[in-house]
Amino acid sequence: RKGTAVITGASSGLGLATAKALAETGKWHVIMACRNFLKAEKAAKSVGMSKEDYTVMHLDLASLESVKQFVDNFRRTEQPLDVLVCNAAVYQPTAKEPSFTAEGFEISVGTNHLGHFLLSRLLLDDLKKSDYPSKRMIIVGSITGNTNTLAGNVPPKANLGDLRGLASGLNGQNSSMIDGGEFDGAKAYKDSKVCNMLTMQELHRRYHEETGVTFASLYPGCIATTGLFREHIPLFRLLFPPFQKYITKGYVSEEEAGKRLAQVVSDPSLGKSGVYWSWNNNSSSFENQLSKEASDAEKAKKLWEVSEKLVGLA
Ligand code: NDP
Repeated sequence: RKGTAVITGASSGLGLATAKALAETGKWHVIMACRNFLKAEKAAKSVGMSKEDYTVMHLDLASLESVKQFVDNFRRTEQPLDVLVCNAAVYQPTAKEPSFTAEGFEISVGTNHLGHFLLSRLLLDDLKKSDYPSKRMIIVGSITGNTNTLAGNVPPKANLGDLRGLASGLNGQNSSMIDGGEFDGAKAYKDSKVCNMLTMQELHRRYHEETGVTFASLYPGCIATTGLFREHIPLFRLLFPPFQKYITKGYVSEEEAGKRLAQVVSDPSLGKSGVYWSWNNNSSSFENQLSKEASDAEKAKKLWEVSEKLVGLA
């Protein structure tokens, strides 16, 4: 049978390119889990995906209620779940004030981390039930959260501190930042990516042996052309792609990045659990090192426990 992969945020950028790459193999049915139904349908058509290869289902990660409804709706379709890809993200580098999710969490961490945290915890049961030979859960990470890299050292740097802001609800009353500091939209995004990478490793430690599920994260390269940068100032958007292409040489096209993530979904040679994948300039994959904070097992455990409380699992 075909594999079934759920991809969040498949209506643009990396998620869409991955959906397309998987659909083209003829071996996958892709559930495009998106907040904008019409945009997702149009996006699928625009890249030439055929009707039988995908289903659009509504998911707004900025609402925990919507996450639960998505899980219910998915279960009602009675399809198996073979791979979950947590890909969607928001990035608000120029925001002066924080905005908040339906439950009142700062929106970058609320969407990118807490929404995906609840989704992955609920869907783990479905993954366990699948009889697919290589079941995987992938959470897209980023170089920007990794302070052991050049890109990760561009200020403001990611730093979760002792998680005091998260523990106090991330609702703007005490703080809207995980470390309890002043709001900074660019840092909130980077912090959320550290959470994504810590969560993947904690899932691996808790569930890999018991379930056989492969947990993985990745940095697909700098996809400088995606919608992620839509809220950045125009000059940045003009100069960022050529800067990445010719100066840092970290640039990767949406199509190439989609192929990389599709490898993490289905390539037999990328089946190892607990790995953060990256690619060389010649496009060969390797197991990359995470920064000290993004591989801190103590912090991962604490993040897990605080997040469980916030999303109502504990
Ligand atoms: P895009 O902005 O193109 O895609 C983000 C996707 O997330 C869109 O489909 C968007 O939906 C969706 N999304 C945003 N908020 C929500 C929500 N509340 N509920 C459901 N879906 C939502 O960015 P990219 O493709 O670049 O980003 C994809 C992933 O890649 C992210 O995890 C990002 O951190 C990561 N990444 C990107 C890099 C890059 O250079 N671009 C580098 C490293 C990692 P909609 O279409 O409705 O807006």
